[in-house]
Amino acid sequence: MDAVAETVQQLIEGMRQRSGFLCSEDSLEELSTAFMNSSLSAEAMEPTEYLKWLRCNVLEREVIIESPMMMGHMTTKLPSYMPDLGKLVTAMNLNLVKTETAKVTSLLEREAIAVLHKEIFHQDDAFYARHVQCRSSSLGVMTSGGTAANIQALWMARQRLCPDAEARGLTLTGARRAVVLTSALAHYSVEKAMCLLGLGSENLIKVQTLSDFSVDVKAMKRVLQRLENVQVMAIVGLAGATETGHVDDLEALADLAASLGAHFHVDAAWGFPLLLDKDHGRGLMKGAERADTVAVDGHKLLYTPMGCGTLLMRNPLDPSRVCKSARYIIREDSFDQGRFTLEGSRPAMAIYLHMNLRCLGRQGLLSRIAAGCALAQRLAEMLRRDESSFELITDPPQSNIVLYRYIPRSFRHLGSVLEEHGKALDHFQVALQSAQAAAGRSFVSRTAVPVRRYGGNFVVCLRAVFGNPSINEEHLEQMLQDQERHASELEKFLFSTAIDIAPSPGGTTRVPDAGEAGEAGEESSD
Ligand SMILES: *Cc1c(COP(=O)(O)O)cnc(C)c1O
Repeated sequence: MDAVAETVQQLIEGMRQRSGFLCSEDSLEELSTAFMNSSLSAEAMEPTEYLKWLRCNVLEREVIIESPMMMGHMTTKLPSYMPDLGKLVTAMNLNLVKTETAKVTSLLEREAIAVLHKEIFHQDDAFYARHVQCRSSSLGVMTSGGTAANIQALWMARQRLCPDAEARGLTLTGARRAVVLTSALAHYSVEKAMCLLGLGSENLIKVQTLSDFSVDVKAMKRVLQRLENVQVMAIVGLAGATETGHVDDLEALADLAASLGAHFHVDAAWGFPLLLDKDHGRGLMKGAERADTVAVDGHKLLYTPMGCGTLLMRNPLDPSRVCKSARYIIREDSFDQGRFTLEGSRPAMAIYLHMNLRCLGRQGLLSRIAAGCALAQRLAEMLRRDESSFELITDPPQSNIVLYRYIPRSFRHLGSVLEEHGKALDHFQVALQSAQAAAGRSFVSRTAVPVRRYGGNFVVCLRAVFGNPSINEEHLEQMLQDQERHASELEKFLFSTAIDIAPSPGGTTRVPDAGEAGEAGEESSD
């Protein structure tokens, strides 16, 4: 092994042995002092020297994603073979935009896409024999992630409704508006797509959710009746909402989309593997097979490195499929996947995906999603215990995400009038999550979702996400103990400084702003 390879191996092992804390306790301001150089170095540095610099300034302080105490986000631990595979993929340095720079891997990419397609759409063998490697067909495209997949889905929806828009732009006649209907919990990338495609974020109509956090389809229909002069361009259903992990009633949304002649897109960036679970998940996902397009992220619950998204298309010859060509590559009669993708040059992410589909296989992927869902149920049980300091919000959790709140002692007797103190409790969650994150021993994220019990208002919740297969029950206990400890300290501090956190008779409660802790209601950023 050469010196660089050896050092890299040591760095990886060092990262794995670093136990006890998840990242540096230093503030971003302190950390930033090591990164103030803005001049291009005149002299080349030895790569081994560089790696030393990297170890001291980055690795020893960076977040350890694969730690089982890291339970807050959707980025998770990879299969053990990934770093080595990554080395090979990097050495190949293919560009999947065209077959001239990825002849065989372009075929492999189409095969990986076909496997995902079949899990969703269940077409017969003849269908796949015809389309998997057919020049004029596209079962889907790979993207950099769920964001790009959602953008491409709405791009197709726009093609379908306004085929002239690409050539002529969106001319405003002042008559009908094109709108997209989705849940209040839709991923923020859907709004990004509306902005990018010139459709306007105000034309994204976000509908309230039911108590299980799935979109209220009846309310969606009522909203539709009230809207005048609109054409529904698309309906976006959620299959594994980023914040709550729930799945919308996809069947009802498919019916509605069909009755309106609208594009039906399902965002399964997170929830796709639920389809593998015959007992529980597949039932939840019913209706996904009727979608025109489905977004699936490889870099979430399919355990590939970052940068691996897909958009699956039910109809491989969908006339609204976006198709571009250029004179020097991606010619119309070529085999190039770049004809159909939003992005240009693309890395061979397909190899990671293809390997996981083979080497984890149905059983490996299923056991991972099942374990995540079981942990979510277990955490929910712990939070429901008598004398619990917590309030379970996703009750019960539908998949592998749990939302909950810490209730300070002075609020616990309040029961149903708790909702009057929503803001005070919000600030407490922000302060608690920030204290836990800063201490760096365990981590959950936070978000704000509309909760029935709080009058349907958005309230701040702690958010635990279970994608990492090495998390076990002991880690859950440890994480909750950490939270109890931080919360007690916060309560002590709030009382000792004579700040009135106790609920007052009028129901108004004062709690200091969480200061550097950030704004209450700030959303999770997966
Ligand atoms: C993560 C996520 C996205 C965005 O995917 P990126 O890969 O981060 O671009 C979109 N939708 C849902 C439901 C997600 O969970």
